[in-house]
Amino acid sequence: MFFSEKQNKGTELRIKAKKILFRKKSKFQKIEIFESYDWGKVLMLDSLFMLTERDEFFYHESLVHPILSSIKNPENVLIIGGGDCGTLREVLKHPVKKVIQVEIDELVFKASLKYFPWVKKIYKDKRVSFIFEDAKDFIKNAEDKFDVVILDTSDPVGPAKVFYKKEFYEDLKKILKKNGGLAIQAESPIHHLKRIKKLYEILKDEYKSILPYLSPMPTYPGGLWLYLFVFNKKIKMLKPVRIPKNTRYYNKEIHFSGFKIPEFLKRIFGI
Ligand code: SAM
Repeated sequence: MFFSEKQNKGTELRIKAKKILFRKKSKFQKIEIFESYDWGKVLMLDSLFMLTERDEFFYHESLVHPILSSIKNPENVLIIGGGDCGTLREVLKHPVKKVIQVEIDELVFKASLKYFPWVKKIYKDKRVSFIFEDAKDFIKNAEDKFDVVILDTSDPVGPAKVFYKKEFYEDLKKILKKNGGLAIQAESPIHHLKRIKKLYEILKDEYKSILPYLSPMPTYPGGLWLYLFVFNKKIKMLKPVRIPKNTRYYNKEIHFSGFKIPEFLKRIFGI
């Protein structure tokens, strides 16, 4: 049996399943986890591939380490979305004091705890608190200020539509520390240029620096993924002060190579 994701009108990615492990509809989305032949266990939300055990580290390491490695004493981190806890696993490789993860769908977390081994290892970490609510509500009432806010969100459908609204980024500014920054998963430069342009137009009105970063991501649309590191102060480049040891993709060379951007993207970002 194959599971497939429609990546565009005429493009699909199919992954052959050995065994279906979990299949439920929460009040927010359809959640499926299956064992595959080539990619380990796979998480799908509303028929979109969110994570495979074989290649998730490209994405989670690229979303977290370029920004966190560049902050000397990162105390408070907020993760928005991230129900599969791959992002949380990478954040905890840094000397953070407190991590709050705001995931709208507790069932994504519960299913990930059951089927993805890294979750069991980290979810009892004393530095972590889980909040299960819509992030757009959480940030309106948040008391804490954060060094880094990480948007590990799904594609802009269903509950994730909020992440493409100007108001969301205005509210985010209020909970960022003076030198704090955002790490945003900003979709595929191959298939989602319209979304990227829309997000960039929103961000450039609200923030002073937007640093684009790229990494391979085999099972996401186009196999190439974009991240945006965003600050309310003028920054030209993120320089690492710490490189976490136990990574599988990220290292000092990758840190700098990820910021090398091709011409078609430079034109979008006015670089
Ligand atoms: N890494 C995946 C990707 O880039 O496609 C997405 C990671 S994670 C699975 C996305 C999470 O965002 C999902 O668990 C989803 O439930 C959560 N999410 C979507 N909208 C949300 C919202 N408004 N507030 C909080 N979490 C949300």
